[in-house]
Amino acid sequence: MSASYSADYDVIAIGAGFAGISLSYHLREAGFNVKVFDRASDVGGTWAWNKYPGAATDSESYYYCLTFSKEVLQEWSWSKRYSGWEETQAYLKFVMDKFSLWPMFQLSTEVESAEFNNETGLWNVRTQGGETHTAKYFVSAMGMISQPVLPNIPGQDRFNGPIFHSSRWPEGLDVAGKRVGIIGAGATTVQMLPEVAKTAAQVTVFQRTPNFVLPAMQKDMTPEWEKEIKDNYDEIIAKARNHMFGMAFEQPPGRNAVDTPPEEVQRIFEEHWKGSFRWVFETFDDLLGSAEANQMASDFITAKIAEKVNDPELVKLLTPTGYPLFAKRPPLDHGYYEAFNRDNVKLVDIKDREPITEITETGIQTTESLYEFDIIVLATGFQAYTGALEAIDIRGSDGHTLREKWDDESKSIMGVYAAGYPNFFMITGPQAPFANLPTSIEQNVAYITDCIKKMESEGYDLFEPSQQAEDEWSEHTAEIHNQTLMAQGDKVHSWMMGANLEQRKPRVLVYFGGAHIYYDKLRESADAGFPELAFTKHAA
Ligand code: NAP
Repeated sequence: MSASYSADYDVIAIGAGFAGISLSYHLREAGFNVKVFDRASDVGGTWAWNKYPGAATDSESYYYCLTFSKEVLQEWSWSKRYSGWEETQAYLKFVMDKFSLWPMFQLSTEVESAEFNNETGLWNVRTQGGETHTAKYFVSAMGMISQPVLPNIPGQDRFNGPIFHSSRWPEGLDVAGKRVGIIGAGATTVQMLPEVAKTAAQVTVFQRTPNFVLPAMQKDMTPEWEKEIKDNYDEIIAKARNHMFGMAFEQPPGRNAVDTPPEEVQRIFEEHWKGSFRWVFETFDDLLGSAEANQMASDFITAKIAEKVNDPELVKLLTPTGYPLFAKRPPLDHGYYEAFNRDNVKLVDIKDREPITEITETGIQTTESLYEFDIIVLATGFQAYTGALEAIDIRGSDGHTLREKWDDESKSIMGVYAAGYPNFFMITGPQAPFANLPTSIEQNVAYITDCIKKMESEGYDLFEPSQQAEDEWSEHTAEIHNQTLMAQGDKVHSWMMGANLEQRKPRVLVYFGGAHIYYDKLRESADAGFPELAFTKHAA
């Protein structure tokens, strides 16, 4: 390394999920000395925290994985179309074992602050235990959706039983025979409810906004299907790399719903109703671009609710209205709607009928009733993209934290660099695309590795992300965002716009120009020598 001051590590990263694991492998292979911290006691990232009953991937597992090793792709076997958290975590440990990555990881270690030191040109990373480590480069591998948002409902500490955020499910907590209250009706609850309802005495979901829930259609992996996947991995990887959401889906079918006769639209919708987000991308090209086409898709989905839920009153409550499909990220259904046909499941509309007023010693009080519970789950979502980065004091060259920088707008360069933060990288930071995360992570890691290699091979001490490049990327991202139906997310508290945070104004957090186009832009930047950065040879 060429820094004038010697550092403990070349690179310090936070986060031991897909991002930290992929990063550590690639940087170690490139000859760098890497340390990865994570506050969790195990590797897995999202899958070390989200252990609620039913937690599973919403991407199909065979492309929700790391692709750098052909051997791993052949050796690992997924048991289901969408694997549960246990299996995904076991897979990540398999990768850790296979490549002996463990020595780079320090778990159960919460990082409290990371400060760029202008004098040394190094990052000082301080843990809660009071240790300080230095590194030339600092990388956030903390995940896009990892910082929980707790509701501002009074009385939470008065409740007599367990009450916790869905991503903090207490180890060993069993819901059998218990009365469970779930606040929130997003992707987490959609997965959790059918599992919890199987054994709980009673489950009540407190819903503010209903979602467009697409079918998952879970199925077991068969030997034939596995063989087909393993024989075609190059093609699968290329499909994901070239897809607008990083998914190994077919290319857009080249037809618009608005130009197709209505009966044919229905026939195509029905034919593709086979589970996963494929339905949105493999039916018509205009579902996310045209309000009229989006309405057709929305109507089709909501008609399916009525086929699954027996009580017409419940159908009404579960039917989303007033916003387009994808203004909120649609969850995948593993028996969610059917769960409402059970005698032990209730839905409470806390938007129009009976808002929650407080949590008491025994349960949840609404304007109408007191609902008594043994367990309360706060499935109230996450501060996406920026939450984990703002929860730590990350201070750049002018001493400001990212939290301060992003108070008004959460700007970045391609979700990787932040102006004012030298030698700092984010993996899927704000204004990166929302996509199948392992695909984006691998593209980000390759890009970051190339940047560090350039720095070292050319003897640079510092890179400084350009303010102009950040302004340009943010303007470009906002321009695209404002042309999409996703820009209506602020009407319905969408985390994709940070509109689920009470104390902050909604903002542009996602690059919707297409993940594949974004990956091309990363490549172009690397090929052009990273024109977004100013490189210097002597630490200031
Ligand atoms: P979410 O989609 O943001 O849903 C949070 C829920 O809590 C919403 O129903 C929201 O209502 C409600 N809520 C928030 N604050 C509230 C309050 N103060 N009072 C009452 N209700 C409140 O969060 P999530 O379900 O945890 O999912 C977040 C994202 O994580 C997903 O979209 C997905 O990307 C990811 N996730 C992925 C998987 C997977 O891939 N397997 C599984 C789970 C989650 P409103 O809608 O009215 O705001």
